[in-house]
Amino acid sequence: MTMSKETGWNFDNSYARLPKSFFTSINPTPVDSPKLIIFNNQLAAALGLNVQALQSEDGAAVLAGNQIPDGASPLAQAYAGHQFGHLNMLGDGRAVLLGEQISPQGERVDIQLKGSGRTPYSRGGDGRAALGPMLREYIISEAMHGLGIPTTRSLAVVTTGESIIRETELPGAILTRIAASHLRVGTFQYAAGLGKVEELRILADYTIKRHFPDIEENENRYLSLLQEVIKRQAELIAKWQLVGFIHGVMNTDNMAISGETIDYGPCAFMDVYDPETVFSSIDVQGRYAYGNQPLIGGWNLARFAEALLPLLHDDQEQAVEMAQEKVSGFTKLYHSHWLGGMRAKLGIFNEEKQDETLINDLLSMMKNHRADYTNTFRALTFERHEDTDLFGTSEFTQWHELWQARLGRQEESKDSVNQLMQNSNPALIPRNHRVEEALEAAVEQGDFSVMEKLLDVLSNPYAHSSKQEEYCTVPASTAPYRTFCGT
Ligand code: AMP
Ligand code: MG
Ligand code: MG
Repeated sequence: MTMSKETGWNFDNSYARLPKSFFTSINPTPVDSPKLIIFNNQLAAALGLNVQALQSEDGAAVLAGNQIPDGASPLAQAYAGHQFGHLNMLGDGRAVLLGEQISPQGERVDIQLKGSGRTPYSRGGDGRAALGPMLREYIISEAMHGLGIPTTRSLAVVTTGESIIRETELPGAILTRIAASHLRVGTFQYAAGLGKVEELRILADYTIKRHFPDIEENENRYLSLLQEVIKRQAELIAKWQLVGFIHGVMNTDNMAISGETIDYGPCAFMDVYDPETVFSSIDVQGRYAYGNQPLIGGWNLARFAEALLPLLHDDQEQAVEMAQEKVSGFTKLYHSHWLGGMRAKLGIFNEEKQDETLINDLLSMMKNHRADYTNTFRALTFERHEDTDLFGTSEFTQWHELWQARLGRQEESKDSVNQLMQNSNPALIPRNHRVEEALEAAVEQGDFSVMEKLLDVLSNPYAHSSKQEEYCTVPASTAPYRTFCGT
């Protein structure tokens, strides 16, 4: 089938021009009966796609992988990855990259179908995805975008009309994922594992051209590549920490070189502040707990640096030294982003030595009182008289006095402080119970209105919202919240 020009597809598939070892050309496996159930109009328009055409029957067939649009060159990508610390050969086992869309603004993005069938990289499994988890990725990735956090986006979900077998039979679905690229730390681990330095160099040059064109002329551009990826991850993970986002499965194959959040599996937002929070049912050791995310980020970047070693210097001992120097800089970079972000959450514009103590004292009170992370900062933002006694302790009163005194030592007006705090402390995050409620209505009743409403609310999370009470009051739950991987 050929799609006509007015569908808006404008592919230029640079990844498909890499050496064959990096991918396998393969079409998605057609499904029984594609049905479009959610579609991101705004994103489609921004990508230059025809919103009407994609929502037609032909459009659904494309988003299900039953029809291949003109100019696409479907392929499954090869990669490796440390999964919970163990290196495995992986690759897209249930996803296909259709190609790269060039938007009217000249931006290049991957169009990927997730849940599109088996590939040569599938190790067991059926290559399919269930509706619940695909809608979950749609909701959380769009919420992250609303929060201003770099992320892959979700263009659409189609149901397949087929069931997939897990512990029970579940409705199958395919998510169309949009990403700056799907280059991962694991892509470099795969390339390094090939043992051909030339292919590693081709991948590194490709990545630099695609994501970091400014460093192309640098004296040691591969060392610059390492530095740039470290910078983006430091910034990204700080943003996660500041909103209480827990990725849940920070394997090296789930860390994007672009600095976008990728692979929404068992992720969730923390309610009660506790650094040990873990939601993923398979993360029994708490490796990917909230408080560990920065450490794991550094660990993953060390794996990235290892993969780059052959490119950094002819003398490998020197290469190791150079890599170590860069990787050890991550902690400091991360910390400065985190501290800057925390200052903003408290309305602080300039820097004082004692700021970190002020912040940590608040966090430690929040932990002891099992305070809700998001709601505490939001309460401080729109403080009413009674909030000056948030935890009902003299410790808090004293802290509050110190905080007010700190705000008094900067020039900015009360209005500016409020504005900064409002822009730094979301009122609305995808609360676990709200996400579950939306998924249940969609999957059990075929009612997508709950999800649509939730998506709408989450698209503007910093605004003063009458919905805050309704969407962010956390029910006293009896069982700890649990998330599950890749179903
Ligand atoms: P993910 O948890 O989606 O990041 O997947 C980790 C690895 O397992 C990737 O190589 C996936 O492609 C593969 N995988 C996950 N689920 C399936 C499935 N249902 N069928 C085949 N491969 C899968
Ligand atoms: Mg191949
Ligand atoms: Mg993954």
